Amino acid sequence: MTNQINGQSLINGEWVTGTDGTVTGFNPATNEALQPEFGLLNEEQTDQAVAAAKDAFASYRATTPEERAAFLDEAADQIEARREDIVARATQETGLPEARLNGETSRTTNQLRLFAKVLRHGNNNSVRIDPAQPDRQPAPRVDIRQRRIPLGPVAVFGASNFPLAFSTAGGDTASALAAGCPVVFKAHNAHPGTSEIVAQAIKAAIEKQGLHSGVFNLIYGPGAKVGQRLISDPAITAVGFTGSRSGGMALFHTANQRPTPIPVYAEMSAVNPVFVLPGALGDAKALAEGFFGSVTGSAGQLCTKPGLLFLPEGSEGNSFVSAVSEFFNGSTGQTMLTAGIANAWLEATKKLRSQDGVEAIGEGKAGEGENAPAPVIFETDLATFDSNEVLEEEMFGPASLIIRYSSIDELVKVIDRLEGQLTATFHAIESDHAEVEKLLPHVELIAGRILFGGWPTGVEVGHAMVHGGPFPATTNGATTSVGTLAIERFQRPVAYQSFPEVLRPEPIQDANPWNVPQVVDGQF
Ligand code: NAP
Repeated sequence: MTNQINGQSLINGEWVTGTDGTVTGFNPATNEALQPEFGLLNEEQTDQAVAAAKDAFASYRATTPEERAAFLDEAADQIEARREDIVARATQETGLPEARLNGETSRTTNQLRLFAKVLRHGNNNSVRIDPAQPDRQPAPRVDIRQRRIPLGPVAVFGASNFPLAFSTAGGDTASALAAGCPVVFKAHNAHPGTSEIVAQAIKAAIEKQGLHSGVFNLIYGPGAKVGQRLISDPAITAVGFTGSRSGGMALFHTANQRPTPIPVYAEMSAVNPVFVLPGALGDAKALAEGFFGSVTGSAGQLCTKPGLLFLPEGSEGNSFVSAVSEFFNGSTGQTMLTAGIANAWLEATKKLRSQDGVEAIGEGKAGEGENAPAPVIFETDLATFDSNEVLEEEMFGPASLIIRYSSIDELVKVIDRLEGQLTATFHAIESDHAEVEKLLPHVELIAGRILFGGWPTGVEVGHAMVHGGPFPATTNGATTSVGTLAIERFQRPVAYQSFPEVLRPEPIQDANPWNVPQVVDGQF
């Protein structure tokens, strides 16, 4: 390993040792501590990180699209240059396979480069121009021009389950930086060393591009203390978060109780229902294999894992159940991210086992080493599901619940009372289209992304993606945390009325020096 890990926070371009205790990373496969120790920030040090981001805002928001895009491209290059070390350390810290972490590194760098492309294209300015109409009757119209500006420093809380793509330089950080917002990133203690190496890459990019050193800050400390202090600081203007419902809601409440409340974009819990229609059961075994792969991939630790599957009663449904049981019975547990997450999953599955009318119909064996519990699949009927809210709770790990239904009308009633979801999936063929049409208006109201076929795990990073959804999937279902639309979370629209051309900001000038897309009088 060439990138040394020192266990320090990055504040205003300097490596700083936190003085309020220490933590280490752990190898979840062995429960052994990984060196070095990471110093946890005290209150004053936490405030210094926010102050650095605040200082950086004026010059960072004034960068041109090309300067900001070049910075994101450079950050991607710097991460690529450290790929080997990043993957090696992340493998130790998370128990995730090397191939998955290599893929996640590519996803992270591609994401940064995609945001750079958006900046060069200029769509993120969302320019709208209503030119003056001095001769309009009965009253003239004034010239009004709208564009988006960055909010200010953003606090980002990385996810345990994506040590790269939803962490230090992940989607929230990349979209905030693209928007023109400096970032204070609170590292997740499930992968502290990985976070430090990625922060070294971002620091190098900041230096190479000659940006203010406070544009990106990495801090270590307990969420309940350092995280809460961070988002209570008046200089912080928005929060990005991926994790548990309790963590996300704790941040949401604090942010809303500040003298100046700020938006919290928390992506939290979802059970991602799958609706299987009778026609899709023609090849029950292939369908079962796809379902098994989606539930158990990454040890079930994906926010889009299908946690509920609604299946017709009857013989074709029974064939699917037999095939799924077989896949689970033959499975072996994979190492989960942390001992805490493995224990939380064991508790959740224990709770489900003890519910009336729920049966475990397939169970594998535990994997080697620590924290690799056996995958398990449960079955129940629609009436039981409808009468017990426990059955809808997220089990973050390799488990899911099959619910047998006999009538589409009853299914509609259950969908109407489901909580908000990141995804919902239909498995259907042409003979099922009438049923899908009946279900779709109900499903649209609960989910951020709706799939026809396929499985919800694996989220494409693009322009049209929505990784969001109504509460409790997120605290703000009006947007997305994956894809280029995510930039809008960290911007706000400003309208400029009757400004002379010479005083207009570049994106709304008639001369359009940045060549950004402009919607004039409502027309592209
Ligand atoms: P988490 O406990 O919510 O932690 C996520 C981040 O938020 C950590 O940096 C944590 O800091 C911080 N945090 C937690 N509580 C906080 C509070 N009250 N105030 C301020 N910051 C706070 O999530 P996790 O550790 O990743 O996993 C725990 C459980 O979350 C899992 O077992 C799973 O059920 C769920 N989860 C869901 C998803 C999903 O996408 N749906 C993803 C990951 C996890 P500290 O750790 O320092 O407290």
